[in-house]
Amino acid sequence: MNNDFFIRLPDALPETGICAVHQETHEILYYNRFLKTISPQIHIGKKCYEVWNSYCSNCFLRNLEDKDSCHVVLENPSSGKITNMSVSRFMWKDSVPAYIFVIAPHKLIPTEQGLSPVSRLYTKGLVAIFNECIIGNLTKDYYANCRKDVVWTDLPQNGIFSSEAELHSWLDIHPQDQGIFLQYFSRSSLLQLFAMDKDHISKKLRKRMSDGVYHMVEFTAARITGLNEDCWYLLVFRDINDEYLLEKHMNLEMSKLVTAARIAYQMLIAVNLTQNSYYMIEYEHFCTKKAPENGIFDELIAISASTLAPEFREEFRRKFSRISLLTAFANGQKQVSMEMRQLGDDGVYHWISSQVVRVESPYTDDILQITMCKNIDEERRQQEKALEKERKSQILLKEALQKAEAASSAKSEFLSRMSHDIRTPMNAILGLTSLAQLHIDDTAKVQDYLKKISISGTHLLGLINEVLDVSKIESGEMQLSEIDFDLKELVHEAVEIVQPAVRSKNQQLLLDFPEEICTWVVGDPQKLRQVLVNLLDNASKYSENDSEIQFIVREDGLEEASLGNYHFTIKDNGMGIRKEFLSHIFEPFSRAAENRPQISGTGLGLTIVKNIVQIMGGNIEVKSEYGTGSSFVVTLCLHKLKMPKQTAAESTLSSPEPSLRPIRVLLVEDIELNQEIAVEMLHSLGAEVDCAPDGRKALEMLAAKPASYYQLVLMDIQMPVMNGYEAARHIRSMEKEGIAQLPIIAMTANVFSEDVKKSLMAGMNDHLAKPISIEALRRLLHTYGG
Ligand code: ADP
Repeated sequence: MNNDFFIRLPDALPETGICAVHQETHEILYYNRFLKTISPQIHIGKKCYEVWNSYCSNCFLRNLEDKDSCHVVLENPSSGKITNMSVSRFMWKDSVPAYIFVIAPHKLIPTEQGLSPVSRLYTKGLVAIFNECIIGNLTKDYYANCRKDVVWTDLPQNGIFSSEAELHSWLDIHPQDQGIFLQYFSRSSLLQLFAMDKDHISKKLRKRMSDGVYHMVEFTAARITGLNEDCWYLLVFRDINDEYLLEKHMNLEMSKLVTAARIAYQMLIAVNLTQNSYYMIEYEHFCTKKAPENGIFDELIAISASTLAPEFREEFRRKFSRISLLTAFANGQKQVSMEMRQLGDDGVYHWISSQVVRVESPYTDDILQITMCKNIDEERRQQEKALEKERKSQILLKEALQKAEAASSAKSEFLSRMSHDIRTPMNAILGLTSLAQLHIDDTAKVQDYLKKISISGTHLLGLINEVLDVSKIESGEMQLSEIDFDLKELVHEAVEIVQPAVRSKNQQLLLDFPEEICTWVVGDPQKLRQVLVNLLDNASKYSENDSEIQFIVREDGLEEASLGNYHFTIKDNGMGIRKEFLSHIFEPFSRAAENRPQISGTGLGLTIVKNIVQIMGGNIEVKSEYGTGSSFVVTLCLHKLKMPKQTAAESTLSSPEPSLRPIRVLLVEDIELNQEIAVEMLHSLGAEVDCAPDGRKALEMLAAKPASYYQLVLMDIQMPVMNGYEAARHIRSMEKEGIAQLPIIAMTANVFSEDVKKSLMAGMNDHLAKPISIEALRRLLHTYGG
């Protein structure tokens, strides 16, 4: 840079005069352009006291003493202008000792009187606290930047408040916060705010610190009063970054908590019990919005109570009044809660859960609480549902218990009765057998005893069958067969079966079976017969002598021609059934009390009947009037057949009894007594019999004999060594001529339809139920022996 630049630079300075004066001769060595304009008499070589003689009496060089520089503030007595004068020792052109004077207008302080109180009041104290501060005059628009290292009695840094770049760099506000700063701390804003009698304004803003990092600081502008009529102010800042970061963290935690609470509760109220005040933190989603968002707590309680269903009001006031809560908290209680119904803005009562929790604050000793309210309509609904379910299951349990108790008492009653019922015929059988032995030569007596033994045996068999049937039904094992049969014949058979009992009581059994009924149907004839016999038998059993029983069969035409809807009505004019017993009539072991001693029975017959009918897909109804009579109607839907298929059994039954051909039978039976009975019976029918005690022995005997030696095998099922099923399978797989055609008949106490199926699947031809009768054997020999 050349010398010209240095010369022209001072010339460019506005409002600043500069000149150099020889220290010893006081000759002017240099002056700049501005100085010439304010002191036109100035010339190089002229003595300074010749140019400014009016100042000489008060020459400020005296202030310099032995220092290198000093500055003073001067007032031009004529113009009233205040001027900063500074003077420094200097080597002019590196060789001439000179003074350099700088004369500039002084903008900070209009009068020395204005500045000194400011200095006294704030500089020391405020700068000590804040390190830096700005003291300014808004009216005149200037400021001074006071720093710790700057002595106030020296010339302070200063500038124009509204446009000063230095001030802005001191502030160095974060770009995003500059808008707020200007809004509150610009000259016009401060003037406006102070004019509104505000004495200070504080704002938290980000400011760049000396290390270049933004810190959160709190700027405070405070009005300084009592100096003069100008508007003076002080601007300071305080670094609050650590607090801010902590608060931010806490706010984050808090906002998480508040968010969680807002999700869980529709109304959150912060309450200061000591101050009797509240404000709603969350309120928008609550169903009742009658109370203001903040106000007096006592009033809030009064308003809230008025919106509750009347039955909850007293408890609400008792629990949530200010006095109650203060007392509760004083007693160490941390929370108080209540569930109640509150009238919502929708005009409907809602279930509300209100919970009051005491909270501590490090900032105050006041008693504070948070009230949290939420709608619990859904919970209540669920609760009600669960309660209702619970109530229902309690009832069901009770009923089940009652039923179980009833069943168990009926069962024990049944057992004692069974023991009686079994013992009675057994007693008769054994007693009559002894009598028969005693009178073995008296044919008439023996015949009478045998007849009675047979009756008792049949009764015993019926009893056993019924008990077995019930246990089958209860275990769900009862199965139905699907057989073509003649319904008319089945009905006649049933009538025949009960006829002896009917006749013995001199009763009339009237059968009404119209000709037009389609009698060939498909179903389980054995089970249907059991149903009808049971009902007919009851009609006879529970009617007086000489009474009348009607048995009516009807068929409704179903649209589908292959199906028939059959109604079997069995009606008596007997003793009838009491109303209270009628609903229990199908329960197992239930018998009308009045019948028990006189009429034998198990109380199982109708249970079996009802279950069979249900398994068949049918229905049974009963109507009865005590003392008048009863009517049972069974309705079944059966497949109808156009052409009857001839069965072996049917052809046998319908054909006249042919004479029996001699036949050789292999009887496979392990129990000797049974063997003996069967052998005797077969002999009486003219058959020859060989006996095998088990399946294996039977196989050996068959193998040993020539082909077609035996014309029939009677096979017990449960046997030691090899059972009947296995034996039958082995026989069928034997390589012997005619073995495939050899009839094998199961002869077993396993009497259910699935047992019959099993026998057939093992390769047997038919099934004979034990106890066997001569009649059944005769039919068999006819069918298979011929
Ligand atoms: P049981 O005849 O072996 O007692 P049931 O189950 O067949 O058992 O009948 C149950 C009870 O119903 C009988 O004990 C009787 O009290 C009553 N009952 C059944 N049928 C009739 C009827 N036709 N008239 C009057 N009471 C009947």
